[in-house]
Amino acid sequence: MTRVAVIGAGPSGISVLHAFKSAQNKGAGIPEIVCFEKQNTWGGLWNFTWRTGLDEYGEPVHSSMYRHLWSNGPKECLEFADYSFEEHFGKPISSYPPREVLADYIYGRAEKSGIRNWIHFRHAARWIEYHQEKKVFSVIVHDLVNDCQKRELFDFIIVATGHFSTPNVPEFKGIETFPGRVLHAHDFRDAREFTDQAVLIIGSSYSAEDIGSQCLKFGAKSITASYRTQPMSFHWPFNWENKPQLNKVEDKTVHFCDGSKKAIDAIILCTGYLHHFPFMRDDIRLVATNRLWTPGLYQGIALENNPRVMYLGMQDQFHLYSV
Ligand code: NAP
Repeated sequence: MTRVAVIGAGPSGISVLHAFKSAQNKGAGIPEIVCFEKQNTWGGLWNFTWRTGLDEYGEPVHSSMYRHLWSNGPKECLEFADYSFEEHFGKPISSYPPREVLADYIYGRAEKSGIRNWIHFRHAARWIEYHQEKKVFSVIVHDLVNDCQKRELFDFIIVATGHFSTPNVPEFKGIETFPGRVLHAHDFRDAREFTDQAVLIIGSSYSAEDIGSQCLKFGAKSITASYRTQPMSFHWPFNWENKPQLNKVEDKTVHFCDGSKKAIDAIILCTGYLHHFPFMRDDIRLVATNRLWTPGLYQGIALENNPRVMYLGMQDQFHLYSV
């Protein structure tokens, strides 16, 4: 029987499992499906955790959620065609829901799909390679709970591990002399940590906008937002200032490339994420820049050199599409 491995049970992975289950429910013959998920539950990035760095098994923490994250996209653009928000909650809800509400919705659809038995939780993919002569993939996964590895053979691979988990952490001259906290948005959990502080935000995209605003809302003294390409053009409160690229750091003083400088207490790198698939051998590993935009990529991309490998959800994090 044809075997398909799905790596990751976040919104993209769940959606592909749902698609197979829907086909099966309609009487179609489907392959054997095995999904490996390193977390102890589904939902991927939407599983908020207090942990940063490594989890209890020494695996990199997947989630980049923070306590007060609300969706930056309207729910109307995120809805599954076959499972509406109204069906899930039994009443209309507001357009930009908080993360708990979206997570609950994603879990609800997954539960309804009846796909749980296909998922091996706490199993991390370690190495996947293709054997041309036999036309099979060998997949090595680590069973984290029993601390042992096993190898299985598959005919197709669907990679649905996301790409907003491995932080892009650039170097800045002198940053090692900074005495305060330096963190990436991936490790940001709660804005209350920065109450009364002068915070430097690096970046000018969604994380910069949202994390900077939250810090102000929770009492940060000021936000200085350093942009590389262009500033965020909003009407900011009096204590938000845009600055060009950070040039160097000297103790508590940060210098910008227009010659201006400022004393600050904390630095938050909102510098985006890397596409990182270390478990895929080179010839089947998707190599892409921080943001990959290709028309038609919304649901996934099959590799040109090996159409038996598909990468899902490469365009953005909100891949709640119905398939
Ligand atoms: P992003 O959109 O990839 O933006 C990365 C930012 O970092 C860009 O402004 C980029 O500048 C800057 N940057 C990268 N390298 C740099 C360097 N060496 N020096 C200075 N600046 C550098 O990443 P993101 O803002 O983390 O957003 C990622 C995803 O998370 C998005 O899909 C977003 O919707 C989502 N998100 C959602 C929420 C929410 O729902 N509330 C909140 C946060 C994030 P350039 O413009 O010059 O490239």
